[in-house]
Amino acid sequence: MTSTTPRPIPDGVPERIRHYIGGELTDSADGAVFDVLDPVTNEVYVRAAAGKKADIDRAVAAARKAFTEGPWPKLLPRERSRVLNRIADLVESRDKRLAALESFDSGLPISQALGQARRAAENFRFFADLIVAQADDAYKVPGRQVNYVNRKPIGVAGLITPWNTPFMLESWKLAPALATGNTVVLKPAEFTPLSASLWAEIFEEAGLPAGVFNLVNGFGEDAGDALVKHPDVPLISFTGESRTGSLIFGNAAPFLKGLSMELGGKSPAIVFADADLETAIDATIFGVFSLNGERCTAGSRILVERAVYDEFVERYAAQAERVVVGDPADPATEVGALVHPEHYEKVMKYIEIGKTEARLVAGGGRPAGFPTGNYVAPTVFADVKPDARIFQEEIFGPVVAITPFDSEEEALELANNTKYGLAAYVWTNDLKRAHNFAQSVEAGMVWLNSNNVRDLRTPFGGVKASGLGHEGGYRSIDFYTDQQAVHINLGEVHNPAFGKGAKPVD
Ligand code: NAD
Repeated sequence: MTSTTPRPIPDGVPERIRHYIGGELTDSADGAVFDVLDPVTNEVYVRAAAGKKADIDRAVAAARKAFTEGPWPKLLPRERSRVLNRIADLVESRDKRLAALESFDSGLPISQALGQARRAAENFRFFADLIVAQADDAYKVPGRQVNYVNRKPIGVAGLITPWNTPFMLESWKLAPALATGNTVVLKPAEFTPLSASLWAEIFEEAGLPAGVFNLVNGFGEDAGDALVKHPDVPLISFTGESRTGSLIFGNAAPFLKGLSMELGGKSPAIVFADADLETAIDATIFGVFSLNGERCTAGSRILVERAVYDEFVERYAAQAERVVVGDPADPATEVGALVHPEHYEKVMKYIEIGKTEARLVAGGGRPAGFPTGNYVAPTVFADVKPDARIFQEEIFGPVVAITPFDSEEEALELANNTKYGLAAYVWTNDLKRAHNFAQSVEAGMVWLNSNNVRDLRTPFGGVKASGLGHEGGYRSIDFYTDQQAVHINLGEVHNPAFGKGAKPVD
């Protein structure tokens, strides 16, 4: 659906979004562009260069040159750390502008986009600290050997990112890749290229040498695919759908690339009868409706113990109806507009499926008063059966499935009953049960009596179809570096001497 009244375009939107290769803003080799839509009106508000193989080739060549000939990989960690801290300072000082542009491009509520901009700065600051504190192992065999780990950047890292919280998720990959001395080619999501285009000026001002950061916009099947298949890109860090992840896994296999995959989720929030119900309701409302529900770790399945089920559903539905849907630019807005009409159609389709599978208790379509734009009312389904599609499949919008359970065993079985395994949230005041449940639940990350509050030192990643490998803290450092073992002899050379016997007789 389109609106007839375009929104004023915020300051800072360029005339055209271009690639950034070897320190220069540039168009695609073939001049191709694609349309970028405003999620509130679905009008085209800017066009972006549509990168293809030729553009990826140019970007990888620039990154490769900066890696082999440039100063960046050889700088002392402290020197790289200073640049990263300057990047963090610049992001912080521009947080409002970044948030305004991100919100305009993605439809995320402005207050939440601001939080994401600050988190992006924090990611850079965190890895600036980590890289100077980095210590590597040394092993001594007294009198015989000293062995140490020589940690080295790998080369050109290919970074492929999705459209939900784009700027923050880009920082999540850029910060550790750059901190460790790699050079990068970033391919941001085609729905939301605006905020990625802001990195170039930030990095230039912070003193990052030309060619270290390169950006190619475009579609996944063109620019993304060419990056995955480029022989001079030994590493791919990907965040996106599980289906895309498995495609990339196959495409990278002939090159034996290093892969890190942060994929989809259908995370359970388990509410036991002894939980503080008010807090659990507040947290599970935020857990699925924040960031428009376009959140990989959303608690999109709520499992509730039968004793409090009816009360929970009634109170939850009433509160969901009061969640404020509105213009993403309005600070009072809690749920904005979904990113793109294609995604809006997908979420609406699931809502219609849900109506045939379960009991609708809140929302259920376009909210009143919003005839246009990608607005979806916070939608709650109760009595959802585990074989329902809305229980099993990632919807990635403001839609939640609530299911009752009778015992801890059943709660665990339901929690583990999807192909995904990203996050889980457990609400109970029974300490033993909480820890034992965390041990058994198939999820890469578990929060006990807490919303999704991260400690940047902890591992981030999913199990099953939700991911491959872990990033976060030193695990990100490990992904973006090679650990070479260097062995030094301290004693006599230990050589079984070959070829010292008598000369063979002919
Ligand atoms: P997507 O998989 O459609 O696209 C992600 C990126 O991959 C985009 O830049 C896209 O252009 C690119 N791409 C698509 N096809 C490609 C190909 N063949 N080769 C190379 N690149 C290709 O995902 P999306 O719709 O942008 O994002 C939403 C998904 O991301 C959800 O499933 C969500 O759960 C997931 N996600 C996961 C995490 C996490 O940390 N686990 C975080 C955020 C989002």
